Amino acid sequence: MTDIVVEPWPSGEWRSLLADSVVSFDELLSEVGLCVQDLAGQTEILAATDQFPVRVPRTFISRMRRGDVNDPLLRQVLPTADEVSQIEGFTDDPLGESAARVLPGALQKYQGRMLMVATAACAVHCRYCFRRHFPFARDLWGPQQLDRLMTFLQTHSDISEVILSGGDPLALPDHQLAKMASMLAEVGSVARLRLHTRLPVAIPQRVDRDLVAWMSRVPLKVIVVLHANHPNELDGDVERAASVLRSTGALILNQSVLLAGVNDNAPTLAELSHRLVDIGVLPYYLHLLDHVQGAAGFDVGDDRARELLTQLREMLPGYMVPEMVRESAGAAFKTPFGEEAGPSGW
Ligand SMILES: *Cc1c(COP(=O)(O)O)cnc(C)c1O
Ligand code: SF4
Repeated sequence: MTDIVVEPWPSGEWRSLLADSVVSFDELLSEVGLCVQDLAGQTEILAATDQFPVRVPRTFISRMRRGDVNDPLLRQVLPTADEVSQIEGFTDDPLGESAARVLPGALQKYQGRMLMVATAACAVHCRYCFRRHFPFARDLWGPQQLDRLMTFLQTHSDISEVILSGGDPLALPDHQLAKMASMLAEVGSVARLRLHTRLPVAIPQRVDRDLVAWMSRVPLKVIVVLHANHPNELDGDVERAASVLRSTGALILNQSVLLAGVNDNAPTLAELSHRLVDIGVLPYYLHLLDHVQGAAGFDVGDDRARELLTQLREMLPGYMVPEMVRESAGAAFKTPFGEEAGPSGW
């Protein structure tokens, strides 16, 4: 193991890194040493970027191999022509989230846990994202709704965990997060605050003094669920970010999505788990792709997924095998692969 500094980054440095992100398709290509001729379907690609713009921080680009159109990190963020084809079974709201809305920007699908769509902003735009069609602008949670949220939680004392999701909740300023966390802590029935965030992977510098200050103080158990899909995402800076997060007393987990052409082979998934555990992060979920319109190119068939899961179980200690799950609209939990009820089975 290498020696890792457990110092947070200076406050706010991440903001300029975020602002300096690559937001144009052409610049993304030139940053990785590729040209348009390397890719098919210019018109469709333009349409795809109109639908869901390109956004990649340079900190993430720096971990890509240059000149390789199949680089697993590049593939997650590079728009492709097939995004705009309509594929049967791939819809705008595959998880039926609109139906789970209990407050503006707040969803409750599962017992005891409420999920807040805290912001629409993400540091990185992942092409497979199931929230790419979410009506963010219309339905966002905002600090002005804090009173409504508090009233809701006080009258729903079964909710013991509040999950800040998005978008990426760590795109919010720390003073807002700190205020929200301390108000949540005042609701006696809320015991845990969970953050679903890709920022410490996309821009590790997000783990700065201000973040650490409120996270270490808040009288709630904090759980941070990172999102990395490939071991190449986890460089030394991400390792440092994970160490600093752990130093606040938070529990650090990771969720991934099974993605064709990115991580759909057993050696890569096994290496991802090893690397995560090396940096003190426990693999939590491996999501089967949500069938969101535009993401069909990332789909891995059920038979292949089952094969991969078996191989992982053969290769890894149990704690390194993430739970392979699929979300289905209306189900009471994220359903482990192979345990889906109903006549269709798996
Ligand atoms: C994923 C999700 C959760 C959290 O589920 P866990 O199985 O506890 O990780 C909670 N609410 C919603 C709406 C979700 O999509
Ligand atoms: S919500 Fe997560 S997966 Fe979706 S674009 Fe943002 S960072 Fe990527």
